[in-house]
Amino acid sequence: MENLSGRCFCGGVRWTSAPRILWAALCHCEDCRRAASSDYVSWFGVARHSVVWAGPRRVYRSSSKVERSFCNDCGAPMSFETEVFPEETHLYAATLDTPEVYQPTAHIFWSERLPWVTSFDHLPTHEKGLQHAAGEGETLL
Ligand SMILES: [Zn+2]
Ligand SMILES: [Zn+2]
Repeated sequence: MENLSGRCFCGGVRWTSAPRILWAALCHCEDCRRAASSDYVSWFGVARHSVVWAGPRRVYRSSSKVERSFCNDCGAPMSFETEVFPEETHLYAATLDTPEVYQPTAHIFWSERLPWVTSFDHLPTHEKGLQHAAGEGETLL
């Protein structure tokens, strides 16, 4: 398989990663919504050590354990990294050069969804996030 790759809106920031997608889920939490100015975010996880960045990226520490990055020129959100999952980088499916490879398998933080977002598919919903789902022995894959 070929490496995954993606870019921001202006193309100034680019990333590549190993091809394996560890999980793929739509996150409805308020932090993700506000960081992306979006109804929800289509996330996927990849091995952090495999991610290579290029371009003028700015990293913003959004909470004590979380860093989110975005393009310094166009402002497009680019990544999420948390000390809770130190082996992973979470990337936005919308930044993929080939977004058709993305296949979400669950909704997370369904409890925080916007009122006009109603279930539009048959994916399982988790009221909280990845940690909560893992703690209950559920899998997002
Ligand atoms: Zn940009
Ligand atoms: Zn979120």
